[in-house]
Formats: sequence, C-alpha cells, structure tokens
Amino acid sequence: MITVIGSINMDIVCQTDVFPKQGETVLGNLFETVPGGKGANQAVAATRLGSKVKMVGAVGQDSFGPALIEILTNENMDVSSVQVAPTSTGIANILLFEQDNRIIVVPGANTYVTPQLVDKNEQAIKTSNLVVMQLEIPVETIEHTLKLCKKHGVPVLLNPAPARNFKPEWMEDITYLTPNETECELIFHEQIETSLQAYPNKLIVTLGDEGAMYHDGEKIVKVAGFRTTAVDTTGAGDTFNGAFAHKICEGAEVKEAVQFANAAASLSVEKFGAQGGMPASEPAEERMR
Ligand code: ADP
Repeated sequence: MITVIGSINMDIVCQTDVFPKQGETVLGNLFETVPGGKGANQAVAATRLGSKVKMVGAVGQDSFGPALIEILTNENMDVSSVQVAPTSTGIANILLFEQDNRIIVVPGANTYVTPQLVDKNEQAIKTSNLVVMQLEIPVETIEHTLKLCKKHGVPVLLNPAPARNFKPEWMEDITYLTPNETECELIFHEQIETSLQAYPNKLIVTLGDEGAMYHDGEKIVKVAGFRTTAVDTTGAGDTFNGAFAHKICEGAEVKEAVQFANAAASLSVEKFGAQGGMPASEPAEERMR
C-alpha cells in the first residue's frame, strides 16, 4: 500500500482574449473546473496503475470538497483519511491569457494537513510500502512525517515541488527525491551532476521530454524519455511520481521504475488535464516494449 500525504485542489480555469485592467470587467471565452493538487494527482496516477493508495489530505466546506472526494472515490482510492476542514477547499485560480498565464493559489484546507492528522494515520503509515509527499502541505507536517517514517522504517518518496519549501537537511531521511531540473538547482545551488553524485540511487531528476537521470553509485545514468506529441504537459511530473512509486512498490530497481515512470508520463501528456491522461498499467507497460 502507498500512503500519499498531500494537497487536494480544484483548478479554476478562465480563458480570455483581453486581460482586465484595474477596475475593468471583461468577457472570457471558457471556464472550467479541473481536479488537481500534486498530492491528489500523484495518488490518482498510482491508483490507475493498480496500486492500493490511501490519501491523507483535507478539503474545505464548499461545494468543491464533496466533488473532489467523489472524484477520488471513483478512482478506487481510500479517502477515509481525507478530512473536511473548516475553511475553503484548496484552489488554483488560473487565468489563461495568450501566453501570459496568471495563477493564484489559495491553499485553504491543505493547511489542515497537520502533524496531528498524520499521527491519526500512524497505523496505516506503519504498514505502508511507501509514503509519498510533495511540498504543498505545511513544512512541519513534512518534517513530522519524515521522523515517523524513519521510526517505522518506511521509505519516503518526496517530490520537492514547490522547491522553495525544501530543507536540504531532510535528505538523510528521504529515500527518493524527484525534482525537475529547475527544482534541483533551486534546492542544491550547484550543477545537477554534482548533486546526482552526492545522492546515488536517491536523487532522480526529471528532464521533461528527455526523460530523467540519477547516479547508480558508479556513474550517472540517463534514462531516455518516450517521444510523443504532447498536448498538455500539466501533471507530467505527477504521473512520473505516481508511476515511479507504483513500480518501486512492485519491487523494481530504480532504473526499471524510472523507465516505467517515463512511459506513463509520456502517455499522460497526450491528453488534456493533469489527471485526464494518466494511464492504466497495460498501456504504460505496452509503451516500454
Ligand atoms: P514537471 O512536470 O514536474 O516539470 P518534467 O517536465 O521533467 O517535470 O516531466 C516529468 C516527466 O514527464 C519526464 O521525466 C518525462 O518522463 C515526462 N515528460 C514530460 N514532458 C514530456 C514530453 N513532452 N514528452 C514525453 N514525456 C514527457
């Protein structure tokens, strides 16, 4: 079983040709609500591939809360540890305006993913094959969970996004860290190769359509991505993480897990929306052949 401790959001998307000036009202072209949040996305990715996933998170008291819980329930994930917090559901308000996207994130209920909520789930964590986290929940929750997982000998995959919340001293208690290139440089302030060498089989850096790389203890290994026609790369990283977690829990070595994650993520970019293109196991395995 994988326990994901992380964010659950609704993305609220408005597309407009004219960006409103101060005090102005304009007409938009399109409005959509799309389920997201890195925690929920990665949980969905792993579940679709066949992993048993428990989601530990929080939604708010507005109409997005029950809608998101229903979406996650329909994915066949265990949502019994998703709390309803006395605030708004986490949202990302996305204004699509030509090339100039503007995004406002309001974490809302995600700030209620506290060390206390983690402690309530200690039994599940203890029996998990892997705990997966990102950085869209409070920093003290990450620190607390890392300690708890260390106590119980449970491996942790941390996807350090957004990277600004990362603390390098966590590395000791992390089993896998999966930044993209930008996040890697932000975290370690050095060349990616130098960081890879410092954390063999632990640091896996994703490289967009190029795939990903890590150090195997002897050398840097670059695992090529799968070339495809990308329609929407939102959630590529989330699919990569969910798929990597799934494969590691099946007992795979890092290389095989990265290959599988590349395959799953390449399928996800072929469709719109973060969760929209996340594949089942069969097409992902098929792509590797
Ligand atoms: P993030 O989405 O977090 O910025 P990346 O852009 O590095 O992360 O993408 C994560 C993974 O998704 C990559 O390692 C790769 O496997 C896959 N991926 C991303 N973009 C593409 C693409 N255009 N074509 C194929 N695979 C892609």
